Amino acid sequence: MSANTSRREFLVGAGHAIGLSALPFGAAVAAQDWDVIVVGGGTAGLPTALFAAERGRVLIIEKGPMLGGTLDRSTGQVAAAGTVFQQAKGIEDTPDAHYDDIMRINDGTSDPVLTRLLVDNAADSLNWLAQHGFEVLPEHPLTGHGHDHFRTARYQWGPQNGWSIFNAMKPLVDLAIAKGRLQVQLNTRAVDLIQDGSGAVVGVVAAGPDGERSDFRARNVVLASGGCASNPHMYEELHGVPLYCQIAHPNSQGDGLTLGLAAGGYLRGGEKYATLLGAILANDHFPSPPSAIPPLNPNLRKPWEILVNFRGERFVREDHPSINHLEHALAEQPGHRHWAIFDQAILDTAPPLVPDWTAQQVMDACDSHPMFSSAENLRQLGVTAGLNPRQLVKTVDAYNDALVNERPDPFGLTHRPLPIAKPPYYAIRMHGWSLISFAGLGVNGNLQATTAEGKPVPNLYAAGEIIGAGATSGAAYTNGMLVTPALTFGRLLGQRILDFS
Ligand SMILES: Cc1cc2nc3c(=O)[nH]c(=O)nc-3n(C[C@H](O)[C@H](O)[C@H](O)COP(=O)(O)OP(=O)(O)OC[C@H]3O[C@@H](n4cnc5c(N)ncnc54)[C@H](O)[C@@H]3O)c2cc1C
Repeated sequence: MSANTSRREFLVGAGHAIGLSALPFGAAVAAQDWDVIVVGGGTAGLPTALFAAERGRVLIIEKGPMLGGTLDRSTGQVAAAGTVFQQAKGIEDTPDAHYDDIMRINDGTSDPVLTRLLVDNAADSLNWLAQHGFEVLPEHPLTGHGHDHFRTARYQWGPQNGWSIFNAMKPLVDLAIAKGRLQVQLNTRAVDLIQDGSGAVVGVVAAGPDGERSDFRARNVVLASGGCASNPHMYEELHGVPLYCQIAHPNSQGDGLTLGLAAGGYLRGGEKYATLLGAILANDHFPSPPSAIPPLNPNLRKPWEILVNFRGERFVREDHPSINHLEHALAEQPGHRHWAIFDQAILDTAPPLVPDWTAQQVMDACDSHPMFSSAENLRQLGVTAGLNPRQLVKTVDAYNDALVNERPDPFGLTHRPLPIAKPPYYAIRMHGWSLISFAGLGVNGNLQATTAEGKPVPNLYAAGEIIGAGATSGAAYTNGMLVTPALTFGRLLGQRILDFS
């Protein structure tokens, strides 16, 4: 957790503020008629509940033992046009420019209606957080960092990453609870939606800590239970790509997707899956934890190595300035696998490819780690690493030949400080990976879940990763396009979209 407030501290704090022990599961809570039940007390669920609690009575049903959801691990990078952070630095910006930048970066693949809704309202969300103590790093806003950059500096995050956002909302949660506008049932899992004869959603069936079930009735239900990036079966089924690496919140199991589908909703967006640049996985049992995430982004570290696929062929200019370009090239390689190839001279001279590892650690890993290989010649390296040996020799020869004869690199690589010529030779296997769900529940411009034909499922709404990264980020990692819409759409639902009459 990248935060000063530890998980345990908050757990204790939340339990105290909410008076959990005084609320046996289901009892008094289930007997009430709520204006809105929010399923999931994370990035989207908290603003939904906080704003709704200003107009009505709200219940959060949260599966985990604490609030905050993915904010416990998210970098919390957010983007908006017209924020107080921009004003403080004299940066002029407009929602139109933000919209154009998003669509340029993701090649027009995010939902235009939801993207528009986001850019028109994102600044109010961040300014609201700022009013409640949310601060960003001194050098922010930026145009970008790990993904393709915006043209205007509108991208920022707090010193405690996602936790900075949570820390701004937590006192408001305590206050809403103290005022009797909001209640929270922790350790409680939504397992079904209750529908009336017309199909309108009128409540939630939830299971408490001991598995006992209760019905909770409400005028509106908002699904804010996150994505499915901790559920390998569902993830692969929806995206057609294995979940190679697991970093997402353990409760990102796609529960809400199943609930929404069963109530008449539909899923979309799995085809927008985008891969991140390679991680060194601990093993081949997917999803695997990462051993390390090398900085393949040339803006963060210029490449000294070349990248090859299992055929031993290069497939991209390693220092291409567009991260999307690199990610898309990687996604075309079988199994999204790629190997960094280098030699002893590069290992001894270059800034570490494996963050914080010494050259000796890399050498040692070749004897013990399944992703690391070394050999005295390139042909043997190919055999050891599982690459086509003959092609690997040809590929490295072509690379060296162009470099030593001062000819342009066959792939246009401009940063090539050393040839790959001094044994032993090394290969590190990496996998493209993702930590978010691109597939999600289909919603309309009012964030109402709909059938595949576009007919709203009455009283059922969704916000956050449950609507799919594809909806707002498109087929790319567009800066801040998950946390910002989660906060903003949650706020809009609570503030004005939900109808309590
Ligand atoms: C490591 C990491 C870094 C990231 N960095 C960024 C970033 O910098 N910028 C960005 O835009 N995006 C980022 N993302 C993505 C972004 O953080 C998430 O998409 C977003 O926080 C999800 O918000 P959410 O409200 O949809 O889900 P969550 O915040 O995960 O909240 C969902 C809540 O629902 C609960 N829940 C689940 N099932 C049930 C159930 N059946 N009943 C009751 N409760 C349930 C969960 O316990 C959880 O508390 C990152 C993701 C990860 C994993």
